[in-house]
Amino acid sequence: MPKGKTIFDYERCKGCLLCVEFCPQKILYQDKTTLNRAGYNIIKVSDPDKCIGCAFCAIMCPDSVITVEVDK
Ligand code: SF4
Ligand code: SF4
Repeated sequence: MPKGKTIFDYERCKGCLLCVEFCPQKILYQDKTTLNRAGYNIIKVSDPDKCIGCAFCAIMCPDSVITVEVDK
C-alpha cells in the first residue's frame, strides 16, 4: 500500500474540519491547544504511519492547506 506524507500550511487553515471528516484512515484531528495567527485550531496527524496517500484531505480542503507526498 502506498504511504503518504501530509504537509500543512497551517496559517491558511480555517478549521472547517472537512479534512478530518474525509480522511478514510481517521488520522487527522484538530489540536485544541494550538492556534494559528488567524485564531483557528490547527490540524495534526495522530498516526502518520497510517497515511495511505489518498489525498482526500488535500482535495477536500477549501483553503489549499494540505499537500500530500506519496511514496510508491
Ligand atoms: S492522504 Fe488520505 S490517509 Fe493521508 S491524511 Fe490525507 S486523507 Fe488521510
Ligand atoms: S480542510 Fe483545510 S481549512 Fe479545513 S480544517 Fe482541514 S486543513 Fe483546515
